[in-house]
Amino acid sequence: MADVARPPIVARGEEKVWFDRLREHELVFQRCTGCSHAVFPLRTVCSHCQSESLDLERSAGRGAVYSFTVQHRASHPFFQPELPITLVLVDLDEGVRVVANLVDSAPDVARIGMRVEAVFDDVEPELTLLRFRPAAGEETS
Ligand SMILES: [Zn+2]
Repeated sequence: MADVARPPIVARGEEKVWFDRLREHELVFQRCTGCSHAVFPLRTVCSHCQSESLDLERSAGRGAVYSFTVQHRASHPFFQPELPITLVLVDLDEGVRVVANLVDSAPDVARIGMRVEAVFDDVEPELTLLRFRPAAGEETS
């Protein structure tokens, strides 16, 4: 599968901000200046009060698994060598929920409530992806 190219990521607007910050190893979300609601994914309007006044904040990158799934079929041939892939929905301590791959652990390690921390995976010079790994003290095998 080495001859299969990674599917391209074409990021614009708030998505571009997201990927630019990941490249700086920063996990960001927004905080509404009107109602203080934490907002994610990045957007132009608060999902709680529809205010357009949103500040970017940096997450400490720690949270708990809300849910997870283990993929045994690749969504694209490029990802075939990575199978099985554990996808986790993580409630960050700042109050937003994000999705990413779980790394540095066996595929059957994920469990609801498990503490995880962000990892910044520099997969290409211009592309960094968010991953999570079990936090120190969590079972990893
Ligand atoms: Zn708001």
